[in-house]
Amino acid sequence: DYPFLCKICKKEKALIEIPSQKIKVCKNCYNNFFENRIKKTIEKYKMIKPQDKVGVFLSGGKDSSTLLFVLKKLYPDINLQAIFINLGIRYYSDKLEDLVKNFCKNLEVPLFIYNLPEKEGYRIDDFIFTYFKDKVCSACGAIKRYLFSKIAKELELNVIATGHHLDDTISVMLNLFFQGDFLGIAKLQPSLPPLFPNQVKKIKPLYTTPEKEILYYAILNEIPFENFKCPHANVTPSKKIKELLTKLEDENRQIKYQLLSVFTKKLIPLIKSNYKEEVLSLCIKCGEITSSQDKICSRCKRIELLEKIDNKTLELTKEEFED
Ligand code: SF4
Ligand code: ZN
Repeated sequence: DYPFLCKICKKEKALIEIPSQKIKVCKNCYNNFFENRIKKTIEKYKMIKPQDKVGVFLSGGKDSSTLLFVLKKLYPDINLQAIFINLGIRYYSDKLEDLVKNFCKNLEVPLFIYNLPEKEGYRIDDFIFTYFKDKVCSACGAIKRYLFSKIAKELELNVIATGHHLDDTISVMLNLFFQGDFLGIAKLQPSLPPLFPNQVKKIKPLYTTPEKEILYYAILNEIPFENFKCPHANVTPSKKIKELLTKLEDENRQIKYQLLSVFTKKLIPLIKSNYKEEVLSLCIKCGEITSSQDKICSRCKRIELLEKIDNKTLELTKEEFED
């Protein structure tokens, strides 16, 4: 064995290391390894049927763009639909829209663009002024969840595929674990069937793919992605846990897979046998699923608050306005 030859095909020159395997391989073998694992995950959880119309919400980042790229390569015949939500974040959203437009054009996947400020009359930036100081992201998350569902219905999608990867899954699971939110852990499934009729199935084909390997794949295959952060992004507990996991990985490169296995094979079955199902209902304002007792979802609560601020019917302290 020449040390510089690909450890898999033993023919081509080794170009890049597969981080989780600690072996150096050629571009072709890297791609095959990466794509096969995603294919296996899709098949194991029966994520996609040939007749499905599959929507991929692109953020402009590497994860969702890589997901679309791989789905197109693995399943050239399925009905793929890319979607971009322009959240109206200044100095950010428009740039991402341009990037995503070019990407989809080159990839020959139809793209649907939803412009939040034009369609709904507010932008994510507006939430800086609300009571939810520091929590722009939670408002944004609630709004995106609502829009995913709304757009899925509009475009008659059967499936929404999201770019959540192994590192996302493990860090969120650990964060929920530290908070004692076991039901939350049990809800983190790679494939979520619709809970109500006319809802859409949600799948995570990158569920078993480490983040670093996505980054390498994106670079290797020249997938364009934006690397600068949203101006509202801040350091969350999950992000800190992610960093910690990366450190632990130096000692044990399989640590993320071991944790995934402990959670999915040991803990989640225990949780499911001990907890009662959460009572879900439909939001009386927008019709989306909510677990809230007053049957108003978190997105609609935030919109109400925005309206009150616009109409100046809400008493805000001086500090909150100046912030
Ligand atoms: Fe939305 Fe926060 Fe993500 Fe920005 S960082 S896009 S505000 S969730
Ligand atoms: Zn609602």
